[in-house]
Amino acid sequence: MSAATRERRSPVPTAPPPENPSPAAPPAVAPTKERKPAPDAALPFLLDFFPLEGPEHTRLSEFFDRLRKGSLSTTRCVQCSAVHWPPRVACPQCHGETLEWVDLPPGGTIYACSAVLVGAPTGMEHDLPFAVGLVDLDGSALRIFGRIEGKPWSELRIGDRVRFEPFTTGDGRVFYRFRAA
Ligand SMILES: [Zn+2]
Repeated sequence: MSAATRERRSPVPTAPPPENPSPAAPPAVAPTKERKPAPDAALPFLLDFFPLEGPEHTRLSEFFDRLRKGSLSTTRCVQCSAVHWPPRVACPQCHGETLEWVDLPPGGTIYACSAVLVGAPTGMEHDLPFAVGLVDLDGSALRIFGRIEGKPWSELRIGDRVRFEPFTTGDGRVFYRFRAA
């Protein structure tokens, strides 16, 4: 065996060629000055204050069904008796999933209130300004946030009496708010 052959049989170790060479870089996207118009854009759904309410969309559809019948309701855990707000599909206290629906008292008092002057949620743009507040429901430990109608926001005071009322959003959905006495 000649020296030249030995050299060929003892090459300097090199990395093997890759079995799967890197894929070609994606073609560059040519800049374009023209923009296609957006297709018929519906309202920005994520800014919509109201959820889809049917049983095909939410396991809390009972809440909306009861609102349509005039009742403000929520869930109570059968296992530990905790009353939740907002209604739940599982108990945040004991993680039980056996819950029952209970009606809440319709009356309450304002714990705190304020006004929305700009930046209303979708569907409420034409209602500005409007009042919002936290309401302590009668005989309940629940303090519920909601809109408050019936008086100009500047005339509402802590301790004012309010009453729950359902209202429709004009597209078949229902929600709740409070009305000052
Ligand atoms: Zn529970």
